[in-house]
Amino acid sequence: MTVRRGIAVSPGVAIGPALVLGNKNFRIPQRFVSVDAVETEIARFRTALETVCVEIEQNQQLATEQLGKQYGAIFGAHLQLLRDKKLLGEIEGLVREKCFSPEFASSRVLRQYARVFENLGNPYLAERAADLFDLERRLLTELLGEPREELSHLTEPVIVLAHNLTPSETSKLDRNLVRGFATEVGGRTSHTAILAGALEIPAVVGIGSFLGDIDGGETVVVDGTHGEVMVDPDEAAIERYRVSEERIRVYVERLRSQPDVECRTADGERIRLFGNIEFPEEVDVCRQRGADGIGLYRTEFLYLEKESEPSEEDHFQAYRRVISAFPDSPVVIRTLDLGADKMPASFRTRTAEGTNPALGLRSIRLSLRNLALFRTQLRAILRAGVFGDVRIMFPLVSTLLELRQARMILSEVVEDLAEGNVEFAADVPVGIMVEVPSAALMAKEFAEEVDFFSIGTNDLIQYTLAADRADQEVAALYSSADPSILRLIRNVVDAAGPRQLPVTVCGQMSSDPKFVPLLVGLGLRQLSVAPQMVPELKEVLKNVTIPDAEAIARHALSLDVARDVESFLRGELKKTCPDLVV
Ligand code: PEP
Ligand code: MG
Repeated sequence: MTVRRGIAVSPGVAIGPALVLGNKNFRIPQRFVSVDAVETEIARFRTALETVCVEIEQNQQLATEQLGKQYGAIFGAHLQLLRDKKLLGEIEGLVREKCFSPEFASSRVLRQYARVFENLGNPYLAERAADLFDLERRLLTELLGEPREELSHLTEPVIVLAHNLTPSETSKLDRNLVRGFATEVGGRTSHTAILAGALEIPAVVGIGSFLGDIDGGETVVVDGTHGEVMVDPDEAAIERYRVSEERIRVYVERLRSQPDVECRTADGERIRLFGNIEFPEEVDVCRQRGADGIGLYRTEFLYLEKESEPSEEDHFQAYRRVISAFPDSPVVIRTLDLGADKMPASFRTRTAEGTNPALGLRSIRLSLRNLALFRTQLRAILRAGVFGDVRIMFPLVSTLLELRQARMILSEVVEDLAEGNVEFAADVPVGIMVEVPSAALMAKEFAEEVDFFSIGTNDLIQYTLAADRADQEVAALYSSADPSILRLIRNVVDAAGPRQLPVTVCGQMSSDPKFVPLLVGLGLRQLSVAPQMVPELKEVLKNVTIPDAEAIARHALSLDVARDVESFLRGELKKTCPDLVV
């Protein structure tokens, strides 16, 4: 039994057999073939092996010609391994004697060899393990074809273990069969983590390298509440997890049983809790959990879900679906936040891969460069606006000029719609995400030109602390509790005050129970959160008064390092809601 620690990103406990996706997302199921099919399967394996050998020979030739003999020799060594009679005999033996599928057999044998190399204690030989993993990948590519197809053809419940999952892969996971997942990379606010929360799949990310030790088929526990992954747990451990799973479930069930109770502090101040969504279907969860509306609809997932570009009608139908669930409440539609880690395949060819995508052509910058796409979306939002209280929000605005440009396009779209005699809402409020430090610092000036602010702490933290939100190597730097973040939030709230502009925090920070009293103490009266967290956050707020929250904010602002802020907030939460402290 081995226990790995990572970052807990989606609560709950899941237990099931491992399905390992390699770096290139290979499925390595422990599959059996029928006795009659053994010879056909072996022939299929030999064909795949031959194709891989031919490919390697071509690489060898190319490398020798272009780089020299010593580089070609690397591939020569690969060929030698793949033609090794003992190794091939072992793979074919597993197919013949145990009726394993060739995929599972080759993956198992190559991984066993790789582990032997890794454990020899010689750095040179340890490197050879990487060669074996590479060969495994090549063979599986041949044997499995398109790996992602495999994920969509699951037939039994699994725990997905992967080096990484992209947001679009995560969004396609079948939540009935994928009970939980764990990845080697990824941070607390990576989009993959956010999606895991939305899909309510227990998940742990940023575990570091661990897939090399797992063949697939082992029993795995993913504890998304405490950030633990256990491989091959013993009976006692499984029992312990089942008990803790039950305790959490009962507590959360109790909180969820009263969705209609308004969110108020202990002294009666109304706080609005909106839901963050990625897919229209999530409005049902928002309603069930008692959200006050939609504070952030991440529309880019319309692109990530499908292969082709959504039409105006696709946008319109998605927005109508969301509005119909909340016809009398605010629905904030964020224009496309494509780019960086949210890049659909159809776009990769159109936008040059920048050296640093997070600082490159993404979000509003991308929309302003692709005006046809931007206009299509704005038309759909304005048309849908007729059916409810819709608001438009621009993501990643860094300068006033960018905002003005976006507003100009919006007024052109309004004119077009008016000329075309199309029914639409002309007076939709317009706001911006404050998620770049420049916007937080210029909040006073922005406040003159927008109808609301929504502070996107996920990106604000990444850009303020220069720490990639998905990189576990810098996860310690990336903290909502950093004093710089608290000061920027205060600056935005202060700038909005004189004009009474509504301000929301819609980053993951506002879904974390320990930060919520602090945010209210800083002056926020509305938050946009992961919908499944609404009941817990209502419970937190029910237990604090506004003066309590202000005292918490004052003390937090007097501290100068994130670690102290974090432990102070944890201590405060422990006093009021001990069950929510993990
Ligand atoms: C944010 O950056 O805080 C945010 C809410 O947007 P996203 O997570 O989609 O970047
Ligand atoms: Mg963002």
